[in-house]
Amino acid sequence: MIELQTDTMVSRKVFLGGSWVATEEAIDVFDPANGQAFARVHTIGRGHVHGALKTAAAVLPVWRGLTAKERGALLNRVADELNRRKNEIARIITQENGKPLAQSEGEVAMAEDHLRWFAEEGRRVYGRMIPPQAKGKRHLVVKTPIGVVGAIAPWNFPLVLSVRKVAPALAAGCPVILKPASQTPLSAIALAECMESAGMPSGVFQLAIGNAAMIAEEFLTNDTCRKISFTGSTRTGQELIRGAAKSIKPLCLELGGHAPLLVFDDCDLDRAVQEAIIAKFRNTGQSCIAANRIYVQKTIYNDFVQRFVAAAKALKVGPGLEPGMDVGPMISQHALDGALAQLRDAEMHGGRVLVGGKRLAGHSGYFLEPTVIEGVGDEALCMNEETFAPIAPITSFETEEEAVRRANATPYGLSAYAMTRDIGRIFRLAESIEAGTLGINDGAPSTSQSPFGGVKQSGWGRELGIEGLEAFLETKHVSIGGI
Ligand code: NAP
Repeated sequence: MIELQTDTMVSRKVFLGGSWVATEEAIDVFDPANGQAFARVHTIGRGHVHGALKTAAAVLPVWRGLTAKERGALLNRVADELNRRKNEIARIITQENGKPLAQSEGEVAMAEDHLRWFAEEGRRVYGRMIPPQAKGKRHLVVKTPIGVVGAIAPWNFPLVLSVRKVAPALAAGCPVILKPASQTPLSAIALAECMESAGMPSGVFQLAIGNAAMIAEEFLTNDTCRKISFTGSTRTGQELIRGAAKSIKPLCLELGGHAPLLVFDDCDLDRAVQEAIIAKFRNTGQSCIAANRIYVQKTIYNDFVQRFVAAAKALKVGPGLEPGMDVGPMISQHALDGALAQLRDAEMHGGRVLVGGKRLAGHSGYFLEPTVIEGVGDEALCMNEETFAPIAPITSFETEEEAVRRANATPYGLSAYAMTRDIGRIFRLAESIEAGTLGINDGAPSTSQSPFGGVKQSGWGRELGIEGLEAFLETKHVSIGGI
């Protein structure tokens, strides 16, 4: 169990080959609510990553040799462990990431659900039999695990986004080495503890905590690693693509977003405001699917803005461990500076701050007041780049055609939202909006059983759903003659 204390530093080791390993190097973990280091985590070198891949390769025949039911039973035991420790692990997430405790509790619950869903879904890896083209032949399609997987996760949902890779890879029969973000390694360490307590065979799940470029380089160049599953920025995704070119390493890339949220005048206004607040301010705006740009139909613009501003004003901002918080600190001073710079840029492009707009007074943590800004020109940074902060730029549109055109005018395509009750429009948007996920009157659309991922520069491949399992399977055609 990780003992989290606020007065003294705790020291944590890395989980490799079924053991907790101490190394020469370590990094500090900071609480974004006060900027103080509260834990120190050992980091590994290239030799350790090489060794971890070797260990994973050695256990691969054992792991893929189990039945899917046996692997599922182990994944369910990991889920049981997460559930047993849910309160403690939620506190770990909040302390290293900053998000309000209730949202961390939601993250643990979702991670548990992912584990249970893939534990079951692993039993439905069906091949198929194809009618023969010629007499005396039979054609089978067989699904096999892809092999050892290198997973790289970000800090914004440190537990659930790790589990989105780890659970399907393990269910498919692939050992995994998880590299968590350096800002949030403790959630991954807690996951490793759950794996250990659940009786996961040694080497099936390991951690790689340390220099990201070095770990990625080993994943990219070592033939033992058969797939890299990455969640993070589009910039890092581009680096991985460049690195993968030489060995044609398969990549699953969950990258940045720039979600539009369209509010049409036929919507249920109360619901639209409520869902837009969730889509924008959940996770302190630091979500890849956060609503980045809000477009409201002119006929209801004033009404929506008035209610949205009132709802944003009512959000409670403060340290995530304090009860009743809606918005926590941003992850770092660097992130806060970036958000404030985007805000100044928005004001230079005609934006008028309606609420917020400043660092929260009286706190040493990286708090930004929930901010609503209207009248921002389309050329402003916040209308073109991912914001990753509790800043909501609102502007108006006149027609559905204009709204769709402006929504799609971005190289990103992770998620989008629309508030409308017009069934014809819902179908038109489902077909015309360029995004991997579209939330209609729904500000939190992700579920274990539905595919999640991006189009355009938001990524390659899908997580969750049956597609999330498929990502770790090879498809083989077996042709049998002489029958
Ligand atoms: P990031 O810098 O790309 O970091 C993400 C992960 O990649 C971390 O583990 C990081 O390690 C690692 N990394 C850094 N440099 C690397 C390199 N050269 N090669 C391989 N891995 C490297 O992303 P971020 O800015 O922290 O995270 C936020 C971004 O993630 C946003 O753009 C957000 O939209 C995106 N995101 C996407 C999804 C999705 O599902 N599409 C979900 C959540 C977040 P270190 O921490 O050690 O540097």
